[in-house]
Amino acid sequence: MAEAKSGSLSLEKFTFDESWEEKRKRAERIVKILMETHPREKLLIGDPYRTLIHCIISQRMRDEVTYKVWERLFERYGDIHRIANTPVEEMQEFLKKNGVGLWKTKGEWIVRASQIILEKYGGRVPDDIRELMNLPGIGRKCANIVLAYGFGRQAIPVDTHVNRISKRLGLAPPRVPPEKVEEYLAELIPYEKWIYVNHAMVDHGKRICNPIRPKCNECPLRELCPYAKGLVTDADIKGKAQGSHS
Ligand code: SF4
Repeated sequence: MAEAKSGSLSLEKFTFDESWEEKRKRAERIVKILMETHPREKLLIGDPYRTLIHCIISQRMRDEVTYKVWERLFERYGDIHRIANTPVEEMQEFLKKNGVGLWKTKGEWIVRASQIILEKYGGRVPDDIRELMNLPGIGRKCANIVLAYGFGRQAIPVDTHVNRISKRLGLAPPRVPPEKVEEYLAELIPYEKWIYVNHAMVDHGKRICNPIRPKCNECPLRELCPYAKGLVTDADIKGKAQGSHS
């Protein structure tokens, strides 16, 4: 049976019964509805280096603040050459003055990552997830963001919205870490749709499927959503539920 799928992925970790085939079909319908509900004129395919710096700044920061600081940083320093040659202390001071949390660490990451990209890769950001993850400040989520939004590759960055919504929708088990959520989504969603998942779920998470009190009554996914049917709860996701599902 096709049920045997999927390597280290297991249906037993879910809080409700559904075959892989049923899950795949449901995932496809979910992505279609998400893309129709939250369309974007074009995907944000930008500059890999700028995307990478944006991702370092954004960690534990609000989107609006991140964007402003990121714009100011490039206005002031221009390009990778100037950033790589900026003393770490100066970059830290710049971030601190602009209200960036973790400014000390991020200042060092920004300068060091830029130096490595210049010295090791001739100034071009690598387009390989492992090479990206070897850069200071770049974890799996940021590496996937650079691939998807910087290079326009099929990748599924799992941020807080994607993590929460995938679990509420029963596309990933409630208690797995974000790297595992990525694996379940990659298994369930057709490859050519991967690039849409992050931006559609981020929009959905901000407008409808909010962290607290999701607006299930007005959600176009409610018929397909186990959370709306009480089969997955926030307590399951946060790990507060006692034993029965895990
Ligand atoms: S039905 Fe509710 S929980 Fe499910 S995706 Fe929509 S808003 Fe989120």
